[in-house]
Amino acid sequence: MPRIVADLHCHTVASDHAYCTVKEIVETCAAKGLSAVAITDHGPALPDSPHLWHFDNQRILPRRVGDVRLLRGAEASILDFRGGVDLDERMLRTLDWTIASFHGPACAPGTPEDHTAAYLALIANPLVDVLGHTGSVEFPYDVETVVKACAEAGKCMEINVGSFRVRPTAIPNCRRIADACRRHGALVVVDSDAHASWDVGEFGPALDLLDSVGFPEERILNADLDRLERYLEARTGRAPR
Ligand SMILES: [Zn+2]
Ligand SMILES: [Zn+2]
Repeated sequence: MPRIVADLHCHTVASDHAYCTVKEIVETCAAKGLSAVAITDHGPALPDSPHLWHFDNQRILPRRVGDVRLLRGAEASILDFRGGVDLDERMLRTLDWTIASFHGPACAPGTPEDHTAAYLALIANPLVDVLGHTGSVEFPYDVETVVKACAEAGKCMEINVGSFRVRPTAIPNCRRIADACRRHGALVVVDSDAHASWDVGEFGPALDLLDSVGFPEERILNADLDRLERYLEARTGRAPR
C-alpha cells in the first residue's frame, strides 16, 4: 500500500467548525512522518469562513517547520456553473495550492450537465489544482468526461478521507471516480480534510478504496515527495506571482 507523504487538505480554527491550529497540524504531520502539509481553510462564501485577509496573510507563515514543508492554500467554494469561485484571481495567485469544491451553502445544486460544466471550467483554470470531494451525491456529474479532462490537463481529483466520516453516501461514487482516474491515467490526491488534529495524516479508508480498484501508486500525487515537488514547481510556471 502506498505511503502518503503530504496532507493537502486541512482546516484550522480559522474555519469556525474546525478545531486545530496551524501549529497543531504541523506538529501532527511531523509526528506522523509527513513531509508537507497544505492549510486549506474555506473561502469566504461559507458561513464558517475566515476573513479574506486570512488567505494572503499566510505569507507570514514559515515555508518549512523542521522537516515539514508548509503550503499556503485554500478550499475555494464553487459559486456557479461557469467555474467561478469565492477567491479572486489576485488572491489565488498568493497561494501554493487551491482546492475547488461544491458546498451547498455556496451554490445550490443544478443538473449533472451544470456540475460537469463547472468542473471542466475549473480544470481549465491554471490557479486551481484539485477538484475536492467530487463524490458528493448532491452534485452528480459526468465522471468520464471530467476525469478525462483532468488527466489531459494534469490536474488532480481528490480522494477525500473526510467523506468516509461525514458523507458516507459518497463512497460508491468515490470508488467509481477512482476507477475512472485509473482508466484515464488521471492524478489523484489522497487528503484527510481534517477538521481536528487527530484526523491529520489519517488516510486508511481512502488507501483501501484505491487498493480495491488497483490504482497505481505513481498516479497518486502525494505518495512521493519528488513527484509533488515537481508538480508544485511546474505550477509556479503556470501561475507566476
Ligand atoms: Zn469541502
Ligand atoms: Zn474541507
